[in-house]
Amino acid sequence: MTEVSQRAREENVSLVRFLYADHGGIIRGKAAAAARLAERIESGIGHTRAMMAMSMMDELQPVEGMGPIGEVRIKPDPNTFVTLPYAFGAAAMLADQVNPDGTPWDGCARTFLKQAIADLAAEGYELQASFEPEFTLGRREGAELIPVDESLCYSATGFHLAHDYIIDLVAALNKQGLEVEHYYPELGHGQQEVPVRHATALRAADNHVLLRETVRAVAIRQGLWASFAPKPLPDQAGNGAHLHASLWAGGSNAFIDPSGQFGMSRLGYRFLAGVLAHLPGLVALTCGSVNSYRRLAPSMWAGAFGCWGPDNREAAVRLCSPIGAAGSVNLELKPSDSTGNPYLALGGFIYAGIDGIRRSLDPGEPLLVDPATLSSSERTRLSVVRLPASLSEALDALEADSLLMSALGPLRSTAYLAVKRSEAAHFAEKDAAYECFHHWMKF
Ligand code: GLU
Ligand code: MG
Repeated sequence: MTEVSQRAREENVSLVRFLYADHGGIIRGKAAAAARLAERIESGIGHTRAMMAMSMMDELQPVEGMGPIGEVRIKPDPNTFVTLPYAFGAAAMLADQVNPDGTPWDGCARTFLKQAIADLAAEGYELQASFEPEFTLGRREGAELIPVDESLCYSATGFHLAHDYIIDLVAALNKQGLEVEHYYPELGHGQQEVPVRHATALRAADNHVLLRETVRAVAIRQGLWASFAPKPLPDQAGNGAHLHASLWAGGSNAFIDPSGQFGMSRLGYRFLAGVLAHLPGLVALTCGSVNSYRRLAPSMWAGAFGCWGPDNREAAVRLCSPIGAAGSVNLELKPSDSTGNPYLALGGFIYAGIDGIRRSLDPGEPLLVDPATLSSSERTRLSVVRLPASLSEALDALEADSLLMSALGPLRSTAYLAVKRSEAAHFAEKDAAYECFHHWMKF
């Protein structure tokens, strides 16, 4: 706490943003004046409980315990302190929402992930993860997002056209300790991908929030607009945030077993099987918006079918081939995008995997073809299921998933379903242009 206050003074910070992600997937927060930072870290900033019942349209949903009465505190985690390279005078910390007496609040999403991490630790493992973010870079013209380029996938011209932006972005991410691993202009017009290095689960979710903020803020400073909406432009490639993950024990990757099928351990297969078993409900958390399901379709490389395969980019779970001598076996969940709350998404993913470990589940045979090319009877024989085709379907699957529902707990699950069902109802009445506009504006 003292160290953070001192850094704030040294780095000329006057406001420190306490940030959290809500059930609509929106990043919100309040900022504390740096002068009394130590006190504020201790007490948090007072906040209404109702904000976790707010939708992405700022429509408050009736949820018992999240009305006009009652208070939480936005309490920052000092380990996450970063000065913001794109906002002079400002810093940020990721925050929990706690009860006024400082105890965990059962409506807090970051607390849910911490609980999942603790349950996984009780099994003897730690999760390393990274969200692989794609986004669309463009300019806002009224209600239109005009992509910065029409360049081809991975094309050298794409590098030229986004260069000034990307160089600033990479510097801003690195300064915050998010180590950029790669960069490429991708398939859709204006589409960029900037993955950062994996980290332990809580840090990975925090990093994704910081990355989302940085991508957008650096764009705004250059007169541009960046969007993580899964389908900002209906006729262009979608933006995923594939989730890469592996379990570690004693400092080494417990998914590696050179004698296992495709080099993955039995533990890895059990975890994978748990993820597949819960996937229809889990996608309500990892693909959290109405717009998510415009992306999550066959032949979009988004993983619209519940199945797995080694380097199969149409399967929901791709077993990534190892890179480098030490091995880097990891699972890649493709039905995942940046409109989900990253704490709920990662927490739900962990609970699904733990269930696979506890019940020694088997993921079945790998799929070595594009699932869209199979007939429906072949899909049935191979237990390949089409994942939910809409947010409403995904929410029904989540509600029917007793393991995920009980892990979320009554307050969180009730609020999440209420918020998301209100969004589904809101957009059901509207056309694609309206839906895409609201998603690229907000995500
Ligand atoms: N853009 C694709 C998606 O929506 C992913 C393409 C890729 O494999 O990088 O998930
Ligand atoms: Mg990509």
